[in-house]
Amino acid sequence: MQQQDSSIPQTEQEPPSSTIADCKNVTRMYTRGGTSRFFGSSKTDRPTVTALDDVTLSVHRGEIIGLAGPSGSGKSTLLHLLAALDTPTNGTVHVDGQDTSALSSRERTRLRLTTIGIVFQRFHLLPALSAKSNVALPLVEQGLGKQARHDRATDLLEKVGLGDRATHKPGELSGGEQQRVAIARALATDPDLIIADEPTGELDTTTAASILEVFKDLADDRAVVIASHDEPTLSIADRRIELQDGRVVPNGN
Ligand code: ADP
Ligand code: MG
Repeated sequence: MQQQDSSIPQTEQEPPSSTIADCKNVTRMYTRGGTSRFFGSSKTDRPTVTALDDVTLSVHRGEIIGLAGPSGSGKSTLLHLLAALDTPTNGTVHVDGQDTSALSSRERTRLRLTTIGIVFQRFHLLPALSAKSNVALPLVEQGLGKQARHDRATDLLEKVGLGDRATHKPGELSGGEQQRVAIARALATDPDLIIADEPTGELDTTTAASILEVFKDLADDRAVVIASHDEPTLSIADRRIELQDGRVVPNGN
């Protein structure tokens, strides 16, 4: 066995990386029209849209990033890449140290299940299930036992202020309540990264404000990325990234 020389400082232990997601020179192009008869069937015939153009961005634990920019500027496209729902045309996206383009779709699903929580503008809850079952759903996929799922979902619903609505179905809840359920569901697997696409877009001002209070509490040792064009929503961010025509607008001057 090799002897450690105590006079030589040992290589310092790497601290746990504060970077949870990392986009490098990311471009995402879409082909318009699929195999539409309007655009012909050959790929090269079809017009392309550059939804993201050379975007570089690191997301760190403990921060809330506000992703701003007008409609069509590429916010949802970037969130889909960060959420490993999609992969870039060029450049790389790493989430939790893994290059999402190098993963199979099954591996990306796994990555989402362990690391990422997603909140959509329109809640995306399953209408036939109670609030509690909706929250517990990712835990079913994770293979957690029934009692543990119940306990965790109950805790999370209490955390978002819906302890007394656990047995209600989405249709019996207000928009703000449904979004709280969706947030609780996104938190179920205790993800390191929360991605939220216009989470207050469907809500009135007062309800939106109460949802923002929930978001503010989320970024302790995780990261939150919220896309919005709503000023109050963006105001809870520690850092703002502005997109315009798929490019990051340089800060300040
Ligand atoms: P935002 O969320 O900021 O409104 P998006 O990321 O949804 O912007 O869209 C960016 C650009 O990419 C827009 O021009 C949009 O039309 C285009 N786009 C988005 N998704 C697709 C798609 N699946 N197919 C073709 N074009 C798309
Ligand atoms: Mg969008």
